[in-house]
Amino acid sequence: MTTTVEKNGRHAEVCGAGFAGLTAAAALARRGWTVRVHEKGARLREQGAGIVLWHNSLKVLKAIDAYDAAMADSMTPPWYETRHQHTSVSHEDFGGMPWRTMTRPHLHKVLLDTARQAGVEIRTGSEVVAADPRGSVTLASGEVLTADLVVGADGVRSQVRDSIGFAQERWKSRDGIFRFLVPRAREELGAGEWDNVIDFWNLEPRYLRVLYVPCNERELYIALGAPRADEQATRAPIDLDLWTGAFPELAPVLRHTHAATDPRYYGYQTTYLEEWSRGVVGLVGDAAHAMCPALAQGAGCAMANAYTLAVAATEAERDGIAEALREWERWERPITDRCQRRSADYAANRGMARGNQFTIENLETALYDPTNPHRHALAINPG
Ligand SMILES: Cc1cc2nc3c(=O)[nH]c(=O)nc-3n(C[C@H](O)[C@H](O)[C@H](O)COP(=O)(O)OP(=O)(O)OC[C@H]3O[C@@H](n4cnc5c(N)ncnc54)[C@H](O)[C@@H]3O)c2cc1C
Repeated sequence: MTTTVEKNGRHAEVCGAGFAGLTAAAALARRGWTVRVHEKGARLREQGAGIVLWHNSLKVLKAIDAYDAAMADSMTPPWYETRHQHTSVSHEDFGGMPWRTMTRPHLHKVLLDTARQAGVEIRTGSEVVAADPRGSVTLASGEVLTADLVVGADGVRSQVRDSIGFAQERWKSRDGIFRFLVPRAREELGAGEWDNVIDFWNLEPRYLRVLYVPCNERELYIALGAPRADEQATRAPIDLDLWTGAFPELAPVLRHTHAATDPRYYGYQTTYLEEWSRGVVGLVGDAAHAMCPALAQGAGCAMANAYTLAVAATEAERDGIAEALREWERWERPITDRCQRRSADYAANRGMARGNQFTIENLETALYDPTNPHRHALAINPG
């Protein structure tokens, strides 16, 4: 079913069908834009396993009419628990703030369906090789397409960003992660609080971490963290003896990781740009602000910024879109910058192992409501 919206005569080309691109596309189409999304992959699919979404991105899902579908196959665990050297050091419930766990394929499908229902055209096998700040994209096929707005949502290796030459810093942190979706296997795990998110940290005798995230009744996301320098712990397929030796209580679920077809170790990347827009090209998501997943806010910030960009571009006069993008960055960027910095600090010092990590300061991004039109009224002018 396609939602009918009065067209506003504006057109957007969106590069990348990840969480950021699909959110921007749906939000623009619901505001009357014609929107085409380019995905370089031959198929539309989300890599990775599970995800934690917080109040900020749940608000965006509501605003683009994707919330009910996202809720359908997801859950809110009773607690976010942290265990350090096998001892439980904290149980956090964020004082009632909404949060949700789900699989990444589920969220991706929900956003895809939402974008399509809003009338978005999605092209697969369509690689964008360059963008022009005056409003065009060039595809690998040589085709050049013009637009009132170009959204660069093509991830951490963004060609939109690099073809324009945005000044940037990019670096990898010392730790990285394997991600798996496995069966919950509750009976095999035995008695315990297995509905919680559980962040298992072992810093001694070596750094090994397992993030245990139930996503629904059937599926469990487990992320196995190790330093990039640890050859044994970063080898694929995983060394089951090593991991079950370090986390014997998780042996029943760790065993299922061997069914994964393409187990891969990912280093965390950070991208920090001098600016997020040039002319009518706006960058969102990992293209603009990839961050370490310490506070689980990469996709949250991506979706929030994609949504607010769509609103800002719609509210601008047609010849004022470039200026509107600069204003959008001026207002929306500081909270993402702070989240990125805190995430980088936690990744560097592994401080989350101490538990009680979600202080009010660390929940700032999660608590933000990008859909509240009055959200800046009380904020200090960021410029
Ligand atoms: C281990 C780990 C755990 C994480 N956990 C969380 C979490 O719990 N919560 C959270 O909020 N965030 C989390 N994140 C961060 C989050 O996954 C990312 O920030 C988010 O997925 C970024 O979305 P994106 O759409 O910007 O980029 P991507 O997901 O990378 O999507 C980019 C899309 O563009 C396509 N593309 C690339 N180049 C081109 C091109 N030239 N032309 C056309 N298409 C192109 C790609 O194929 C892809 O489909 C985690 C990250 C990691 C590494």
